[in-house]
Amino acid sequence: MQATIPPVSGGFDNLKLIDPICRAVREEKYSIPTPIQIQAIPHLLEGRDLLGCAQTGTGKTAAFALPILQRLSGNQKRPKPKSMRALILTPTRELAVQISDSFRTYGRYLKVKHAVVYGGVKYNSQIRALAPGLDIVVATPGRLLDLFEQGHLRMDEIDVLVLDEADRMLDMGFLPDIRKIFSAIPEERQTMLFSATLPDEIVKISKKFLRDPVQVTVSPPASTVDKIDQRVLFVDRENKYDLLESILQDESLYRVLIFARTKHGSNRIVQKLSKIKVRAVALHGNKSQAARLEALKKFRDGKVRVLVATDIASRGLDVDGITHVINYELPNEPESYVHRIGRTARAGTNGIAISFCDAGERGFLRDIERVTKRTVAVDENHAFHSLVVAAGNKRLSGDGKKRWGDGKGKNGQRSGGSKFLANRRARPAGKSGGAKAGGRQRYSRAR
Ligand code: AMP
Repeated sequence: MQATIPPVSGGFDNLKLIDPICRAVREEKYSIPTPIQIQAIPHLLEGRDLLGCAQTGTGKTAAFALPILQRLSGNQKRPKPKSMRALILTPTRELAVQISDSFRTYGRYLKVKHAVVYGGVKYNSQIRALAPGLDIVVATPGRLLDLFEQGHLRMDEIDVLVLDEADRMLDMGFLPDIRKIFSAIPEERQTMLFSATLPDEIVKISKKFLRDPVQVTVSPPASTVDKIDQRVLFVDRENKYDLLESILQDESLYRVLIFARTKHGSNRIVQKLSKIKVRAVALHGNKSQAARLEALKKFRDGKVRVLVATDIASRGLDVDGITHVINYELPNEPESYVHRIGRTARAGTNGIAISFCDAGERGFLRDIERVTKRTVAVDENHAFHSLVVAAGNKRLSGDGKKRWGDGKGKNGQRSGGSKFLANRRARPAGKSGGAKAGGRQRYSRAR
């Protein structure tokens, strides 16, 4: 699916990219460069280092891939066996595969050889791919170092290095690996560092390893968040699954990414959904690499409607056209919330983020609202709305009336009591008018 990106200025023609690259970009139907592409590409073509503060979804892959392709094609030097000329480090296997696919797409009219290297799979095919020497290697740090330490690759010919999603790599404990990699590559090189956030640690790394970098900041998390229609549904913990089931009756939830806290929890959701014939797969760290790639492919190709992921598994996940993100459980870190919901509303499209919040998660919601500097709209128009959870939130509900204190809901029912819920649950979701979450098109996106 093609993303629509708001116009900024000029087209790709103004960026001084060589014809084979422009042609590939045109075939992707990119007519206007994204802000990060406009700001980064001219400097990168001049060989400058870059510190880019940008999230996935901003078009940052092309922002670094196009200048790298141009740099490499301008110097047709053959790499020595086991060597590489450009190295892109990225936190996850999925992201590595996606970036490598982008190099294939943008470099289709150039003679550049590239390979992708990540853990969790056998070494042999990667060793074979590296043996003759390559132009571009996209890698996760751990596997790259393993292969280096075993003598299957050399890093002394690297001319360009990219650290992608640097903040995530630090979160995942890759800093020692990254330091080792820096000490093995030539000092004379072009270096780019991309990160969604710039904590002190990243600033320190950039000072140490980048040389007089151009700094480019685009779409801080808050502005991505602005494009997303966010809602929170107060629900008792034991009703979360039923709420999910009723919401999924709305067919406008077409490509849905659900976040669960644990691997076990995500498997359980998939199993339950499959019983009601909702096609779903889980993506988490316990799966083999082949199974993860397969799950992702099914989701991307539309063979399954729902992908249930844990935070770690979803890092860097780039699937176009995710219509809805559902937080089955709220994350305890606001940053994860921003990353999660950013999987929808990619590259200028709209998206909907629905969060389930139970009594124990109200504090997480408050933290999220504090960090994103906005209030998440409460949607109480569903079968499992919990007045108890809502009351704990200590704020006005949608119609401006206080709902806490008397323990009664709109129709005088007791809040959260099992009878109330049992009655509500007895009715098939989606069949009782506007109050039901299962009503069709309740969660359609703005066009
Ligand atoms: P990224 O931030 O690199 O993950 O890119 C996000 C999405 O935007 C990808 O699906 C790209 O194919 C798409 N994209 C990148 N650049 C452009 C552009 N200039 N115009 C339209 N779509 C783009």
